[in-house]
Amino acid sequence: MSLKGKAAVVTGSTSGIGQAIAMAFGREGCNVMLNGFGDAAAIEQQRRDMEDKFGVKVAYHGADMSKPAQIADLVTKAQAAFGGLDILVNNAGIQHVAPIENFPPEKWDAIIAINLSSAFHAIRAALPGMKQKKWGRIVNIASTHGLVASPQKVAYVAAKHGIVGMTKVVAMECADTGVTCNAICPGWVLTPLVQAQIEARAREQGIAVEQAKRNLLAEKQPQLQFTTTEQIAGLAVFLCSDTASNMQGAQLVSDGGWTAQ
Ligand code: NAD
Repeated sequence: MSLKGKAAVVTGSTSGIGQAIAMAFGREGCNVMLNGFGDAAAIEQQRRDMEDKFGVKVAYHGADMSKPAQIADLVTKAQAAFGGLDILVNNAGIQHVAPIENFPPEKWDAIIAINLSSAFHAIRAALPGMKQKKWGRIVNIASTHGLVASPQKVAYVAAKHGIVGMTKVVAMECADTGVTCNAICPGWVLTPLVQAQIEARAREQGIAVEQAKRNLLAEKQPQLQFTTTEQIAGLAVFLCSDTASNMQGAQLVSDGGWTAQ
């Protein structure tokens, strides 16, 4: 249990990658503040299951990550609940797919707010406490789209490139403080965020969902397998471990060869 007694906030942890990271942290003995949208009873079930299974404290805060004041409150409440905050995972994210001429400005604003600005607000709030403790881990969930582009994803690609840049700045500012800041860049992971894109492609092209899945992988990910949420969670645990204490501003890629091409 490498993270025993530590405390983490994982934004967007009611689904997909964030949920797997929260679970992995709990398994390592880390207290966790969950965040994200969803059915209240299901979130409470997730919270209690984690407490029962791992014997850690698990709390929930429903901050909307597009709202700076709510983000500040999320960090304050986590610090109060656990007596401090050691780990921040900026994971909450959304997607919208459309050519730039048809890209709704309100979708641009929402994606920049949730996928990029939220990390700035959360880091700004969490960092003083981490620096005071001389220990902290900030893990930003970027994407292969933080390193390369795809058409029809202007806001997402801009936000993810932005978060890779933010990761490097925070890493430099924290270089000798005991706080590290690194990014993880997953390829396709089969979560609700990607399932929605697969179903939209199947509808548009008049093909079966399974075929749309195979096509999606074949286009980008030569290994022809989805990256799993557990694989990304394992990288997040690794970045919080002592082995990674010398890593600053890195982009850890897990993408079945997508960006090797
Ligand atoms: P998901 O849709 O399964 O989960 C997204 C989470 O973010 C949910 O908990 C949701 O409630 C939360 N969320 C969305 N808007 C929010 C808001 N305004 N305030 C608070 N919470 C909010 O998606 P996922 O695939 O698990 O994505 C998680 C992260 O991983 C995102 O940043 C995404 O860009 C990134 N990512 C995903 C993939 C992939 O293939 N799935 C690949 C690379 C990067």
